[in-house]
Amino acid sequence: MKNIFRSEDINDFKRLVEKTDRIILTCHMRPDGDAVGSTLGLCHLLRSMGKEVNVVVPDRIPRSLNFLPGTKELAVYTQYDPYCTRLVNEAGLIIMCDFNTATRQGDLAPLIQGATCPKILIDHHRDPDLKCDVKFSYPEMSSTCELVFRIIAACGYYSEVDLNSATCLLTGLITDTQNFTVNCNSSEVYEILMRLLEKGVDKKRIVDEAIKSTSYDALRLNSFALLERLTIFEQSRCALIVLSKEDLQAYHYQKGDTEGLVNMPLNIRGIVYSVFMREASDCIKVSTRSRYDFPVCDICSDLFNGGGHLMAAGGEFYGTLEECRQIFLKNMSRYDKYLPSRLEKIDIK
Ligand code: 5GP
Ligand code: MN
Repeated sequence: MKNIFRSEDINDFKRLVEKTDRIILTCHMRPDGDAVGSTLGLCHLLRSMGKEVNVVVPDRIPRSLNFLPGTKELAVYTQYDPYCTRLVNEAGLIIMCDFNTATRQGDLAPLIQGATCPKILIDHHRDPDLKCDVKFSYPEMSSTCELVFRIIAACGYYSEVDLNSATCLLTGLITDTQNFTVNCNSSEVYEILMRLLEKGVDKKRIVDEAIKSTSYDALRLNSFALLERLTIFEQSRCALIVLSKEDLQAYHYQKGDTEGLVNMPLNIRGIVYSVFMREASDCIKVSTRSRYDFPVCDICSDLFNGGGHLMAAGGEFYGTLEECRQIFLKNMSRYDKYLPSRLEKIDIK
């Protein structure tokens, strides 16, 4: 595996980690497999090196990640504010994983940004604007977990990676690549998979827990969304799913139940991108996916106060669900210029 890092960055990383006893790891709100996997993966490694390490997450993790070793000890800011505040204030080093801008941490942002100890950023989103002392920003990585593994290898810490750490790291790789179907054409991703499997990781269990496990209600909600709430826009090659609060309530929606739904319409021949709007308590959560390098991140930053990766992005809209839908419909044709010139017929019927 190639060492992709500048030697100063690796040296600074090692120096900060090795001289600091109390370390905090943190990630973005609504944490996903890569956010939880990268923070807990590093947490287990640093603990095996004798460090006192805690993971502070902005809000609760989805049920599908509860199987990961260490989730019971996560410090959840929305639930234990004073405890999280104390941990951050006593930390000698903060490692921020899988986010590029402070707003991605919601209410936890001021605490982390206000901390005066050194900070390290490890992330694969574009254009990070976070203040830090050491920055590992590599948007070409499949996942933050891939990046964490490469940093571990470059530091010479691979032998310290235990089964718990390897399980967490492989989870982020699996969830961000949808079990090795997207963003994983580099042979080195498979070399990393091999190195993690060598630690004894149960890959099938990760796929079963983090990707496949669903509930009866969630399966019915997703089926309902595809049957009743999916619209195809042939001209723009777009699929739109909109779920209201009432729709969600009817199927007893729980956090994480619609994870993966936005990907489904991309299976339709001829569809280039998919947009999913969900009415949340405080905003309309927008989630987008595309193929053929269609820049859904632009749609999210232009219209929905968000951003992300070129072909997997998201955002939040502050207004009603209908306003959110209308804004998108009004602007949809602006993005037609990014559609590939030769496209197969949409296979609707
Ligand atoms: P998801 O659709 O799975 O929620 O998010 C896909 C990707 O979009 C994430 O990895 C993240 O990069 C980006 N993303 C999702 N929600 C937001 C958001 O509210 N703001 C920003 N800036 N990016 C987001
Ligand atoms: Mn990620």
